[in-house]
Amino acid sequence: MKTEVHKASWWNAEAGKKVKCLLCPRRCVIADGRLGFCGVRENQGGELFSLAYGYPVAVHVDPIEKKPLVEFLPGSWSLSMGTFGCNLECSFCQNYHLSRGFYKEAPELEYLPPEQVVKLAKTKKCASISFTYNEPTIWAEYALDIAKFAKKEGIATVLVSNGYMTMEAAKDLYPFIDAANIDMKGFSEEFYTTMTGGHLAPVLESMKYFHGIGKHLEITNLVIPEKNDSAKMIADFLSWVEKELDKNVPLHFSAYHQDYKYNESPRTPSETLLKIKKSANLQGFGHVYLGNI
Ligand code: SF4
Repeated sequence: MKTEVHKASWWNAEAGKKVKCLLCPRRCVIADGRLGFCGVRENQGGELFSLAYGYPVAVHVDPIEKKPLVEFLPGSWSLSMGTFGCNLECSFCQNYHLSRGFYKEAPELEYLPPEQVVKLAKTKKCASISFTYNEPTIWAEYALDIAKFAKKEGIATVLVSNGYMTMEAAKDLYPFIDAANIDMKGFSEEFYTTMTGGHLAPVLESMKYFHGIGKHLEITNLVIPEKNDSAKMIADFLSWVEKELDKNVPLHFSAYHQDYKYNESPRTPSETLLKIKKSANLQGFGHVYLGNI
């Protein structure tokens, strides 16, 4: 039974019992009794609460390579968890059962405090805990507390994220995280606004910051035919990685399949991904991986 409610961090009180959430670039202004866009942060009487804190809706043990992270603790197991909700609205979402789920419609859930998560990871012989399945940005308070306990126990933490977080929150969370796979959904602002409901710049800023503080970063780009697979978009993305990060950052290009609301593009042909890999390799990117082919 869901009983615990956890006060959120990263928000300001506004006039008329409203609150402004500062966790992601949407900066939702939320009226009393209402939820933010992500569906898991609620204004209760002029204060912001996280409904997701302590209530993962999926907990599994996965190989770390499934995140995907291929150059961080290879061959190890990762206790992987996710909640409901998301702060983007990608029409091609491949995990909408969780991202568009709501706690108020959920069956009974058991409270799982941060120290219990770490205990579970140890029992299951996991070298890491991954915040994954849905967007962990929106449950950053829970992820941060788990990461602090995990650190004490010598267990690594992994963020599988869209990178859509404000810098003020990223500066609190990212230093406690060991590795991340950040999803760069398409290298143009137009792609972000039309297909995800977000913006590209904050995602680039998150990746730059995470990499800049010396953490292990891998990047995933889901390649959607005729949407984000143009030679120019791929070339612009590679140039940005070379200039702002490092040519040795592992890059994952993965195939799209039809899902959720968007079904206008066919499945990504393997040839498209192989072509991207070849051109990246020719430009000196030595850590290019292909997924779902
Ligand atoms: S985390 Fe949720 S409530 Fe906060 S700004 Fe983002 S979408 Fe809105």
